[in-house]
Amino acid sequence: MPGQFFPETPAPASAFGTGPAAALLDALPEPTCVVDGSGTLIAVNRAWIDSCLARGGDLSRAGVGSNHLDVCGEPGRQVATGLRAVLDGAQPSFVHAYPCHAPDASGWGSVHVHTLPGGGALVRHVDTTAQVQSLRALERAEQHDPLTDLLNRRQLTNRLGLALASAEPYSRTAVAVLGLDRFTRVNECLGHDAGDELLRAVAHRLAGGLLPGDVLARGDGDEFTLLRPRCAPGQDAVQIGEDLARRLQEPFRTATTSVSLTASTGVAVGQAPQTAEDLLAHADDARIDARRGGGGRTRAWSPQLRPRSIARLRQEEEVREGLDRGEFALHYQPVVDLRSRRVTGVEALVRWEHPDGLRMPAAFIPHAEQSGAIVPLGKWVLREACRQGAAWSRSGLQLDVAVNFSARQITHPDVITGLSEALTTTGMSAERLLVEVTESTLVEDTELAREAFAAIRALGARTAIDDFGTGYGSLLYLKRYPVSVLKVDRQFVAGLGSRKDDEAIVASVVSLARSVGAVCIAEGVETLEQYAALRRMGCESGQGYLLGRPVPSAQLPLSIVDCERLLADHEATTSPQAVPAAAVAVVRDLLAEGASLQTIAAALNRQGLRSTTGTRWHKASVARVVSTLRREHPVPGSYGAGRAAG
Ligand code: C2E
Ligand code: MG
Ligand code: MG
Repeated sequence: MPGQFFPETPAPASAFGTGPAAALLDALPEPTCVVDGSGTLIAVNRAWIDSCLARGGDLSRAGVGSNHLDVCGEPGRQVATGLRAVLDGAQPSFVHAYPCHAPDASGWGSVHVHTLPGGGALVRHVDTTAQVQSLRALERAEQHDPLTDLLNRRQLTNRLGLALASAEPYSRTAVAVLGLDRFTRVNECLGHDAGDELLRAVAHRLAGGLLPGDVLARGDGDEFTLLRPRCAPGQDAVQIGEDLARRLQEPFRTATTSVSLTASTGVAVGQAPQTAEDLLAHADDARIDARRGGGGRTRAWSPQLRPRSIARLRQEEEVREGLDRGEFALHYQPVVDLRSRRVTGVEALVRWEHPDGLRMPAAFIPHAEQSGAIVPLGKWVLREACRQGAAWSRSGLQLDVAVNFSARQITHPDVITGLSEALTTTGMSAERLLVEVTESTLVEDTELAREAFAAIRALGARTAIDDFGTGYGSLLYLKRYPVSVLKVDRQFVAGLGSRKDDEAIVASVVSLARSVGAVCIAEGVETLEQYAALRRMGCESGQGYLLGRPVPSAQLPLSIVDCERLLADHEATTSPQAVPAAAVAVVRDLLAEGASLQTIAAALNRQGLRSTTGTRWHKASVARVVSTLRREHPVPGSYGAGRAAG
């Protein structure tokens, strides 16, 4: 605001006469004045006068006739220097931002000086308090964890980098990573609001024990990190972690209960040329080791843990190199609508065409997940699947595309931005995308995953719980996560037709899905018996080797044709009315003679008796007629399993 720069010499306040120039000046919302070539104010606008009065300024010393170059205070001198440069023609304009202090509040302003044709200048004082405040709030939000107001892990990594770079020789820097043990259980039992409250209380306690120079940050979920830029000589690393964890010893009291917490803490101590990432990875490894030992303990990183860190870094690097070399590919497995018997979607499954041979997901996804390489890999998978989905759609093949997301991906802060970016850049429609997360991932039930599920649905895409039935507490997830699809794990589908308990499980998952407004996809459909049982149960969709194996995109159209033909054929041959009576008679006669399926098929084809789909007879279609006949007229001792296979 202008008050600070007003000259000391008294001058009468005045407006710019009454002409259009004055009206124009008065229309400007910011305090504005016009100065002549010597810096003397020759006009001020209404806002200038109002602002001066509001700030208790003296118009006789700040109005027309005073000189803008007669200033007091440091920011004022800088403005005067800029104004002088503009008036001397050395530069056409000048902008300067400055803090200013009104009697009741602090603020920020900026002065804008522009040359006027014919000499002199226009000086505007703009109040930028609101912009500066929101920028500062943004800066704070970028650096702090919103829940605890501690620094976030990224900021801590930056500070750790600085600490390592600026440490004196022989001085050592320590990092301790503390993870609360079984915190998901606390969340489950007390609810997430109480869990958040507890995390704030933990942050408060840990912060209470800091030494001068220490920095405390919150990482993901229940993880806190302490940075001690300079360790005391001879300081024992384990001691640093134990001191930190000891602050949690007293139980935490909430309004209704008291909670005892333990933590697993890992500590690493080092110095340059180690990087911040190295030291944090070491502390993390030590924490994992502490947790593996049962929790409630502290471990210092030691070279014995080293191979794991190095192996992990190497794995991450390898995946990144593989991505750079374009070694990853997606295969697509058809998903069939069991009611219409049409392929309505695919699941994208990643393959690594490694120079040493093809690698299946089980060989690299768990490592990628552990090392963090899953994030760039998952990003590639998502984008490639969306690109392919959009390309099929443009060519008239409308398919839903399912993409698997790992735990790290679904809880990554950028998951939703990444998703919408993939959809927009590829032109894939959101309704066609299904995001699959395995049930075991959701066992590590976190607020982040739940928010991601809700946001995915808000984008218009769908969510699926994969391998349903293999985790525990499945019903809990259904209540908590907005789910569009349940994928029944293939171990239950495998038992259809032979195991009564599996049939009961699958049937109840089908009705469970329905009761929460979701649909069911049965995984691992390998036989026609399983397929028929799923249809009888009203399961909406199925996927499995019977219906099509995962294939590269170029082979998918053919795979779809094969799948739909197989199902149409099955439909035709299992419905007795659909098989021509003459064919049924031939099958029955030859069956009585003990002929093989191959022989019966050949006889039917020789006699020109076609199946209703118009295709030639083969072993499988004869076998279906045989089994229908057997169901209708059981013949003791007829057609054993061995023959049926032949
Ligand atoms: P999933 O998502 O449950 O995928 C189904 C797996 O079962 C696939 O194995 C598929 O090839 C296999 N499968 C399909 N039908 C049958 C069948 O009839 N019988 C049998 N025995 N198996 C069948 P795959 O491709 O080896 O993938 C294994 C797992 O790796 C996937 O299980 C998924 O959890 C994970 N995965 C695959 N691609 C990705 C990916 O891009 N990202 C992530 N995060 N995970 C992926
Ligand atoms: Mg899947
Ligand atoms: Mg699965």
